[in-house]
Amino acid sequence: MKRLLLAMAIIFAVACSAPKSEVAAEVAIIPQPLSLVQHDKSFTITPATALVCDAAELAPIVAYTKEYLALQSAESAPESNYIALSLDNSLAEEEYHLSVSAESVKIVAGGYGGAFNGVQTLFQLLPSDVYTKQMQLPATVQGCEVQDRPKFAYRGFMLDVARTFMEKENVLRYIDYIAYHKINKLHWHLVDNQGWRVEIKSHPDLAKVGGFRGGDSPLRAALGKWNEKYGGYYTQEEIKEIVAYAAVRNIEVIPEIDLPGHSEALLRIYPQMLCNYTNDKLDVNGNYDGRGVVCATKESNYRLLEEILAEVCALFPSEHFHIGGDEVNMSQWKKCPDCSAWLRKRGYTDGHKLEDMFVGRIQAILAKYGKVPSVWNEAAFGGGLSKKALVHGWKSAKVCKEVMMKGYRTIFMPQEFFYFDMRQSDHETGPVWGGAFDLRKTYSFDFV
Ligand SMILES: [Zn+2]
Repeated sequence: MKRLLLAMAIIFAVACSAPKSEVAAEVAIIPQPLSLVQHDKSFTITPATALVCDAAELAPIVAYTKEYLALQSAESAPESNYIALSLDNSLAEEEYHLSVSAESVKIVAGGYGGAFNGVQTLFQLLPSDVYTKQMQLPATVQGCEVQDRPKFAYRGFMLDVARTFMEKENVLRYIDYIAYHKINKLHWHLVDNQGWRVEIKSHPDLAKVGGFRGGDSPLRAALGKWNEKYGGYYTQEEIKEIVAYAAVRNIEVIPEIDLPGHSEALLRIYPQMLCNYTNDKLDVNGNYDGRGVVCATKESNYRLLEEILAEVCALFPSEHFHIGGDEVNMSQWKKCPDCSAWLRKRGYTDGHKLEDMFVGRIQAILAKYGKVPSVWNEAAFGGGLSKKALVHGWKSAKVCKEVMMKGYRTIFMPQEFFYFDMRQSDHETGPVWGGAFDLRKTYSFDFV
């Protein structure tokens, strides 16, 4: 079973030291920019330094920059002592040029993302106390010319708040950290067997009851929280706030509602969505029906799922919507008279064919709300998944490659390189099912 707390897919070339320079301190920018030329004309930020920007669409970045650097706004560039943000539509959206001279720092970008990335590079050229938002002035920006654009359009971070709930403020801090590294997608794993974390107004018990496990909850205790009722959820207002906070930071939030497996939280609230047989194998305490797979052949399930998914779709502007598809326990479908009959009638023995049908039905629902499905790699095993879907490969680097070779746009996030809840050495405690590895191994991954 995959118990991921955090996984990261850094879809670009990662940190390398910049070339040594005779004239100045070494500049190290993460991720390594396309080109970096250092020179000895450094810029000094003082309390009088002006921030100039003539592009209205960059207003949120101007406000963001001023949160970190207490600069004066100016309508137009003074003769010297200013930082300027501007757009040049001959550059790609996330491309930027940053020029430091004794008089100014100029960031010229193709679009919002490029300007944001340029500001992050500027922060990295400053003393690290810039991140405290209370940097000591005057502060020196090392003289250099940077030309940069990302190698990959999708640079993602996946956050699992289903197994471990994280308060809104902590989610916002994670967004800050990934923004500093120019990561532009947050894949937000909002539900799993251990909790339902998003308020659904038409079905309030999903979060109010299903957001908690242990104690008097219908969800069993799990993952170290054995003697307490544990959990939490996000209201729709909180989710909107998080999505907007991320958007300022050039981060698109992609929600995940994990279906049809990993669905214990949903199924403890709505047991009528289970397959049509009596489970004689209850939890060791005799209290919990441990089945976690939604019946694929009950029409009423698709109506209920549409009501739920429609509300979630409305909260996230992203066109991507992750619907899970991993680790479906096919034995539950095979024991179900209706699901097994569906397979038998079509001459199938592989449950993945039924998963293809289920995913196709959910894809059609999402299409009504303008969304394209993302799925975990198992959902690409049945052969019927639409090529429009984005596939997230978690199982292994080998599986990621196989999925990509089938023609799917594939997000590489193999557990054995990117699951950061794994222990980093044999001397630590923590999960090891994805392997024990440290950042050297993560950095060694060659996406190309
Ligand atoms: Zn069934």
